[in-house]
Amino acid sequence: MIMIIIFVGWLMWRRSLLTALICLTTLGSLVSCSQNRQDTKEEVKIVATFLPVYLFTRGVTGDIPVEILITPNKEVHDYQATPGNARTVAEANILVKNGLGIEEFLEKLIGGNSQLTQIDASEGIEPIVEEEDEEKGEHAHHHEEEDEEQGEHAHHHHHEEGDPHVWLDPVLAQKQVTNIRDGLIAANPANEETYRTNGDAYIAQLQELDREFAAKLAPVKGCKFMVFHDAFAYLAQRYGLEQIAILGTPEDNMTPADIQKVLNLANSNQVKVFLAEPGVEDKRLEQIAKESGLPVETLDPLESGETDPQYYFRVMKQNLASLEKACK
Ligand SMILES: [Zn+2]
Repeated sequence: MIMIIIFVGWLMWRRSLLTALICLTTLGSLVSCSQNRQDTKEEVKIVATFLPVYLFTRGVTGDIPVEILITPNKEVHDYQATPGNARTVAEANILVKNGLGIEEFLEKLIGGNSQLTQIDASEGIEPIVEEEDEEKGEHAHHHEEEDEEQGEHAHHHHHEEGDPHVWLDPVLAQKQVTNIRDGLIAANPANEETYRTNGDAYIAQLQELDREFAAKLAPVKGCKFMVFHDAFAYLAQRYGLEQIAILGTPEDNMTPADIQKVLNLANSNQVKVFLAEPGVEDKRLEQIAKESGLPVETLDPLESGETDPQYYFRVMKQNLASLEKACK
């Protein structure tokens, strides 16, 4: 009898041991499964500074999340960093920026994170610098006079490093996406395949966009278009157009004499359409349009808007349509 109890007891102990072993094995594989997932998708924290670099970075990362520092309804020029921005940068592994001095606010933020990998999307791009404006003669002269009157705003907008608005040229945008793709692969090789596949597809879309711009703007080479935000110098240079900028930034005040100067400038350059930044409420623009009798179309510098990576292409196609109207 005692023997039987001991035998059954031994059997039960063996069974529970077996169960325990199975549990351990199962747990072990669960733990290793979740570790694998972290290695590929979740371990890296990527931050992009403002809308165009965010769109390009998301175009490369696909499903891998990217945080944006400047919420898309805020102006990047003269941006002041928030405590939330400081926390985000402190926790990030990789920071993607446009470069060329547009993200001045970063200087105060990046010092605290010595592990941070920075990707400068404009690396290797030859910037358009202020001196070139002087060669253009009168427009540049006029432009500079106004810049002086505007003081700090204008000063902020024209950086020593050159014009930062490279993302608005579909060819330089390809270079930026290439820089972002290669920078992400170097910093986070575990996701190389994802970055390469998505990045190459996005670059192919940019190449197609460039072909569309080149084809539609070729017949109007030399056209002068008039803008309020001087963000389109690279685009103009690429397709043989000329940007005439009214002001450094759209928010600055204009006197009646300034308005008259704009009307004279429009007249002497046979401008047929004014191009304004969408979403910027501007009484002066209405007044200028009314007094000149010229229509106003939108030309979007893509510094704010939607966060879908395809948004870049939608807006650029609208910009192309506006330029065609302005150059008709
Ligand atoms: Zn700008």
